[in-house]
Amino acid sequence: MPILVVGSVAYDTVETPFGRAERVLGGSASFFSVAASFFVPVNLVGVVGRDFGDKELAALRGRGIDLEGLERMDGQTFHWQGKYSYDLNSRETVCTDLNVFEFFRPKIPERYRRSEYVFLGNIDPVLQREVLDQVDRPRLVACDTMNFWIEGKPEELKKTLARVDVLLINDAEARQLSGEWNIVKAARAIRAMGPRTLIVKKGEHGVLMFTEDGSFAAPAYPLEEVFDPTGAGDTFAGGFVGYLAGAASTGSVDEVVLRRAVIMGSTLASFCVEAFSLDRLIRLTRAEIDDRYRLFKRLTHFESV
Ligand code: AMP
Repeated sequence: MPILVVGSVAYDTVETPFGRAERVLGGSASFFSVAASFFVPVNLVGVVGRDFGDKELAALRGRGIDLEGLERMDGQTFHWQGKYSYDLNSRETVCTDLNVFEFFRPKIPERYRRSEYVFLGNIDPVLQREVLDQVDRPRLVACDTMNFWIEGKPEELKKTLARVDVLLINDAEARQLSGEWNIVKAARAIRAMGPRTLIVKKGEHGVLMFTEDGSFAAPAYPLEEVFDPTGAGDTFAGGFVGYLAGAASTGSVDEVVLRRAVIMGSTLASFCVEAFSLDRLIRLTRAEIDDRYRLFKRLTHFESV
């Protein structure tokens, strides 16, 4: 069951207390696609400029990602620069050069239109709806957004959310979107806007999932070396939606499958932060994923093993 992903494909410049990476592959669609590619085929829709390199294309192709929907426009690729604090818990955006991304109007290739799973990366909510208008009744639509759209286009965002099944946002965004400080109240308000499943990401403190069955909590995997948190959220989303799409091809998606998907998302995100850019994800194996998933199970199990 292939997944259609629409979002940014970027060059990132990242500064952490441990080092600096200059113009390395990034973007929400890149992190999402590579993570999801461990479970199902992935169809990517995005835009890059003439400067986008063969090495980056090869990295994505190497994971089997279908790039027919990756448009190449005259101009430079989207560039984002971020700087992390000493404890890696907060980051400052140094600059965002939209470049060709400013003119991005997602065009879904004919072959992608029957994708049953769709991930709408963090783009203008109007464009997110344009994507949904071009696909034939998907089984599941997952979506990300950010403070920029919550503040700048709240009404458009609400129209999009009415068509979304799973929303993945961080705790600050959940509070801002709902106007509720308490996360449980915020989750109730957001679920009333459309998404029946809400994932609230809390960085190194893990995630909370809210469904009609109640809530589920997963910690972040405790790592000795966290190198660069960039893309962890999108990687979580790729592992989560990828796992769901894989599970749906053999059975139905119930609460147990959703909980496993949360742990799989957290597992993939834990690899993402071990290196700059997509470096760790690109050389990851399915066996390493399964090993860490098992360790996650032990980490969170508290009755007799
Ligand atoms: P995350 O750490 O999960 O928030 O994702 C970071 C990725 O988002 C980086 O690779 C950036 O290239 C990308 N990014 C940053 N700002 C934006 C934006 N305004 N629109 C789309 N993608 C962005």
